[in-house]
Amino acid sequence: MNVLVINCGSSSLKYQVIDSVTENVLAKGLCERIGIDGRLVYQPAGGEKEITEAAMPTHKQAIQMVIDALMNEKTGVIKSLDEIGAVGHRIVHGGEKFAASALISDEMIQAVENCSELAPLHNPANLIGVRACQELMPKTPMAGVFDTAFHQTMPEEAYLYGVPYEYYEKYGVRKYGFHGTSHSYVSRRAAAVLNKPYEELKTIVCHLGNGASVCAVKNGKSVDTSMGLSPLEGLIMGTRSGDIDPSAVEYMAKKEGLDMEGIMNVLNKKSGVLGISGVSSDFRDLEEAENNGNPRAKSATRAFNYRVLKYIGAYAAAMNGVDCICFTAGVGENNGVIRKQICDNLGYLGIAIDDEANAKRGEEVVISTPDSKVKVLVIPTNEELAIARETVALVQK
Ligand code: ADP
Repeated sequence: MNVLVINCGSSSLKYQVIDSVTENVLAKGLCERIGIDGRLVYQPAGGEKEITEAAMPTHKQAIQMVIDALMNEKTGVIKSLDEIGAVGHRIVHGGEKFAASALISDEMIQAVENCSELAPLHNPANLIGVRACQELMPKTPMAGVFDTAFHQTMPEEAYLYGVPYEYYEKYGVRKYGFHGTSHSYVSRRAAAVLNKPYEELKTIVCHLGNGASVCAVKNGKSVDTSMGLSPLEGLIMGTRSGDIDPSAVEYMAKKEGLDMEGIMNVLNKKSGVLGISGVSSDFRDLEEAENNGNPRAKSATRAFNYRVLKYIGAYAAAMNGVDCICFTAGVGENNGVIRKQICDNLGYLGIAIDDEANAKRGEEVVISTPDSKVKVLVIPTNEELAIARETVALVQK
């Protein structure tokens, strides 16, 4: 079955068509600047990337353009829409309602809407994509795969905040965690690579991209993760602050004359390694700046690494030990220097890095030495494939 995987944001939409049998990507791309002007990127497997500037006033028009590209006589990969057996949608926040992926129905959409207050930037945009696909492919079964679902196994002591309990009861104020699809996929792959039973491993996954989070996976279940009610908690990220004293938020807002929206915008978009360095949120730019002697770029990278290191220590404690540590996403997969800097401080866990293995890129690889007590791996994440698998499992049930 071919599965169309959709990751819909407020003005952009990423898509892939995956053959669920071979797990090959048949085509992929994205729509950008939806509602502004519009740009379609389309790339069939083994073919050239095509970029088309075309008006996309709505998400429905954007998805129609994706469908037209997929069915294009010369460069398309399907002849008719019947060849799309299912659509899998990434949905950011499932609250406590969704501990697993779910088939899309009116009730399910309502339940996602009810979680929207917890993710006002993401869930409404995800649902716009769902509705647009429903209109264009009314007969095709669809599933929603949640970023939060994998973390619903966290125990109460991990997800409760130290605030009045009635805020949890009344408003759902608690840690939810995100990147669940990635943490689940990567921890499973690590078990497969190590040839160990997934249900018996203590794994720490470091998903280090623009958004970044660490997850403790014990016996196949997420038991803690660094993001919280929203993706702002935890690590220092590209542009997000991560953990910060709440009093600092009030203090900065007062000093800068910002209201709540203004200071939240600073914490989400102008902080993190961008905020510290004043250079960029992109680690490639930071590396270049650091090599050119920029001290703040160095400070930003060090602070980023230190926060990852602290979470690894915390999660080794939370699980009473750790068998393997995985690095994934843009930085985790590609930046061996950062991996090495983090792991250099993990000698107390009996970790040693094999520099030759650590220099490899783009493949699943064990980067620790054979005698390292804890195995360290690089596992490229594949959220789209994970969404396609979940979707097929639900549709075929
Ligand atoms: P997101 O999906 O959260 O937007 P990514 O997982 O793509 O983010 O990660 C983006 C980060 O990964 C950037 O800081 C970038 O520097 C880094 N990155 C991506 N590709 C490479 C690469 N080939 N070499 C070094 N760093 C990379």
